[in-house]
Amino acid sequence: MSHYCKTCDTYMLPSRNHVCPPKWEVSDPEYGGGWTTIYALNASQAAEEFCKQDDVASADYTYVRNGGADKILVRPFGSEEIEEFQVCAESVPEYSARRIQ
Ligand SMILES: [Zn+2]
Repeated sequence: MSHYCKTCDTYMLPSRNHVCPPKWEVSDPEYGGGWTTIYALNASQAAEEFCKQDDVASADYTYVRNGGADKILVRPFGSEEIEEFQVCAESVPEYSARRIQ
């Protein structure tokens, strides 16, 4: 059995009842303007998650390469109340040593 929710893809603790976070629609107007459904705790997290998911799905990391997005639109699912967010994206260098001898 997968421990990831089939709806929101959140990792579920086996001992707890899972409730999906709220549903949002997110759009990058510079990038076609379509709306993508995102599950997140709040609107700013939805904007971040949108960029993250797009970077991972495309394997192109457009947002990280551009340092983020100037304007990401977020609205609660089924609502026309749009909020605008600027998203900063950066990759974090990570180093690890493994003893080989
Ligand atoms: Zn869920």
